[in-house]
Amino acid sequence: FRLNIEGLLVYFPYDYIYPEQYSYMLELKRTLDAKGHGVLEMPSGTGKTISLLSLIVAYQRAFPLEVTKLIYCSRTVPEIEKVVEELRKLMEFYSKETGENHNFLALALSSRKNLCIHPEVHTSLRFGKEVDGKCHSLTASYIRAQRHSNPNQPECRFYEEFDAVGRQVPLPAGIYNLDDLKDFGRRKGWCPYYLARYSILHANIVVYSYHYLLDPKIADLVSKELAKKSVVVFDEAHNIDNVCIDSMSVNITRRTLDRCQNNVDTLQNTIHNIKETDAAKLKEEYRRLVEGLKEANVARETDIYLANPVLPDEILKEAVPGNIRTAEHFVGFLKRFLEYLKSRLRVQHVVQESAPQFLKDIFDKVCIDRKPLRFCAERLQSLLRTLEIADIADFSAVTLISNFATLVSTYSQGTERLLHIFKLTHVLSLFVVLRLCLRSTSIPESLTSALLPWHPSP
Ligand code: SF4
Repeated sequence: FRLNIEGLLVYFPYDYIYPEQYSYMLELKRTLDAKGHGVLEMPSGTGKTISLLSLIVAYQRAFPLEVTKLIYCSRTVPEIEKVVEELRKLMEFYSKETGENHNFLALALSSRKNLCIHPEVHTSLRFGKEVDGKCHSLTASYIRAQRHSNPNQPECRFYEEFDAVGRQVPLPAGIYNLDDLKDFGRRKGWCPYYLARYSILHANIVVYSYHYLLDPKIADLVSKELAKKSVVVFDEAHNIDNVCIDSMSVNITRRTLDRCQNNVDTLQNTIHNIKETDAAKLKEEYRRLVEGLKEANVARETDIYLANPVLPDEILKEAVPGNIRTAEHFVGFLKRFLEYLKSRLRVQHVVQESAPQFLKDIFDKVCIDRKPLRFCAERLQSLLRTLEIADIADFSAVTLISNFATLVSTYSQGTERLLHIFKLTHVLSLFVVLRLCLRSTSIPESLTSALLPWHPSP
């Protein structure tokens, strides 16, 4: 039925409304009017999602210039799908009541693992990282460039087709869950993952995971271009602090360091081979790094599946520090950092350190200062691109270490960062774990639902 909430006409697709739902909508309307932040709490199972969607969709329709987009962040894929189904119900109700076909686009976005339709990728690989890795080996910019000289180089026809025509044709209005996107992708021959990532820019409602907004490793890539006049909803918002902590945390074990050592050895050998066969490639990379990293960001759409912690823009405009510019120097730098980390894992007791203490210790022990550490993640990505390494999933350990270096040296203001080095003894195994975690004091312990205006730079 229809409701009048302080002058706003709201369509509600159920025959009965709880008083709590009405008050919830009322508060939501006042929050939107005030352009403020809201924290709303309601017991589970009392129809929070539909109340929220009904009110915000009504608001979007009434004030299209005030609220251009709703970004609904949820935690798990089933929860994301549930929101989309509620939305479908709501929009069907709108069509029934008004007799109009609404030009309204809403879609879910999830990882490649949940959206890939390539028969050899999504059926044979179980883990997200593997799917990302395989996708990368088919779509990375340098792999696609190699295809000009070698047509036998494998490709993903769904990405190629999307790239050729998909961007020119907007996704038709409608409500799309993950299966709908896959069906549409199959019909058109377009990759649903890239289609969804592209379509969120002009969608009225986007439903995706918290990480796409909160994790600096992916938020900049996926959400940077989203409209400023968006309303952001965090469902079950008491999870925000954990998601923030998780996304800024890195666990490093002895095994990670051993795998990283193998990665560094492989990089060294590959550089050695390239030097003999195509030294110009390394020179070209050096030239690019002298000019700064901006240029390296251009081909990011497909290349950066192992996303880096985001560096502030002003840093990307700077040239990469001289001591890690050449490929060989950078590998030498990684080796020193690795040796340092190994030495830190030889602890006999729990150690807690702040990031500045940790950075000072690195400088004292191995003479590595903060600046090259900040560039480490981007510098590694540049090297992997230059060496044209297709199967980057194998390099996850060195990527993790580089991300750690960038995180620990970049995010050190305004929040408390703790570095834990500790041992866990477990019957037969002994793990030593180096963990960097961010603890923000600005996030309340327990929130149920938070409504926030959107500021695109995380
Ligand atoms: S481009 Fe899309 S369809 Fe192709 S492998 Fe990657 S995720 Fe799968």
